[in-house]
Amino acid sequence: MIKILIVEDEPSMRLGLKDNLEFEGYEVDFAEDGVIGLEKIRENNYNLILLDVMLPNMSGFDVCKTVRKEGIKTPIILLTAKGEEIDKVLGLELGADDYVTKPFSLRELIARIKAVLRRSDDIKNEVNDNEITLGKLKINFVNYTAFENSEEVQMSHKEYEVLNYLWKRKNETVSRDKLLKDVWGEDVYITTRTIDNFILKLRQKIESDTKHPKIILTVHGIGYKLVN
Ligand code: CA
Repeated sequence: MIKILIVEDEPSMRLGLKDNLEFEGYEVDFAEDGVIGLEKIRENNYNLILLDVMLPNMSGFDVCKTVRKEGIKTPIILLTAKGEEIDKVLGLELGADDYVTKPFSLRELIARIKAVLRRSDDIKNEVNDNEITLGKLKINFVNYTAFENSEEVQMSHKEYEVLNYLWKRKNETVSRDKLLKDVWGEDVYITTRTIDNFILKLRQKIESDTKHPKIILTVHGIGYKLVN
């Protein structure tokens, strides 16, 4: 079943959307403000998020930006209001997939939802061919799942992100500085020491023998290399 999260502070809007989307056959969850929305996005695996821009506690733009920064790729449609000075281009730059201006017709919204879901399905199908095996784990970067034999292994979004980053550069040496800049971003205060600890933890999940790693190798004085 396709799960949609509605983040919207106006009760009538929220309930109207909920009823109509459920009628369309979607499973619907909702959040009343940006902070609750962000928490729910982190904890659940939604297929799509309808995100109002003007929200109490945390704006839709900030939710969108944070979600993308954390590597969560769930499609987002922004709900913007006419007359609000909102730069739609900014929303798309922050990682939203589409936007709908209020007041919108339900038909228009459903059409957008279907288009966005279709696009995200296409992307998933492309990447699904690439479910990879790394050491002890079978990893799927689209569904964010990792299995050791048939047991699911819990990994954070950041761990998936780092692994995906190294995987895309397999057999290349990646410096700590580059990893830090590209995955955590420059405005986050993290030291290269934190990265070393992060890699140690990651190895415990992947490597059969963490004392003699065979997947994520240390390149002394520089950084790391994923070998496959
Ligand atoms: Ca609002």
